[in-house]
Amino acid sequence: MAIRKILKYGDPLLRQKSKEVSKISKKIQTLAEDMLDTMYANNGVGLAAVQVGELLRMFVIDVSNPKEKYNPIVLINPKIIKKDGAVGCNEGCLSFPEVYTEVRRYKNVTVKALDIKGKPFIIEGKDGELLARALQHEFDHLNGILFIDHSRNRFEADKVLEEKGLPHVEVDKLIEEAEMEDIIATTNSIVVDKIEDDEKAEGND
Ligand code: ZN
Repeated sequence: MAIRKILKYGDPLLRQKSKEVSKISKKIQTLAEDMLDTMYANNGVGLAAVQVGELLRMFVIDVSNPKEKYNPIVLINPKIIKKDGAVGCNEGCLSFPEVYTEVRRYKNVTVKALDIKGKPFIIEGKDGELLARALQHEFDHLNGILFIDHSRNRFEADKVLEEKGLPHVEVDKLIEEAEMEDIIATTNSIVVDKIEDDEKAEGND
């Protein structure tokens, strides 16, 4: 168990494509544990192996409410088997400290993967909820795609990046999502996470 260093935007490794995990060895299991430790230590909800310098197709997520029990999920060699709808949402990434910008995501997504023991499982994220968005965000990392590539407003994203001393948006990496943008704009489908407010409303202590 160890906390690893997270690569920051600008590191060329983050733009590379990760390779399939051929065998779920002790080394892979240790890596998954380290990734979870690293994610929790940085208050993240997801972390891909490439972010700690390992070009392997695996990521970890935990979208449980901070007041609930931990619910770590390890996904190895994930594949998106279904996706539809579109939402706009404010997103961040552990490789972009303090950067948040609005991006487009599918509303619903189904992912098939192997767990830490090599057992296949299916996980579904629905209604643009955090799980749906985290699955897409982390899956993207395995293909060298970063959340800012999905920016709804690249000028706004650029401004925040500059404020935080990070490199500019890479214009050639921006993903054309006109159809998704239409859905978001016409249905006003914006997701806003208000975990703390919800807790207050529910009267949780
Ligand atoms: Zn990320």
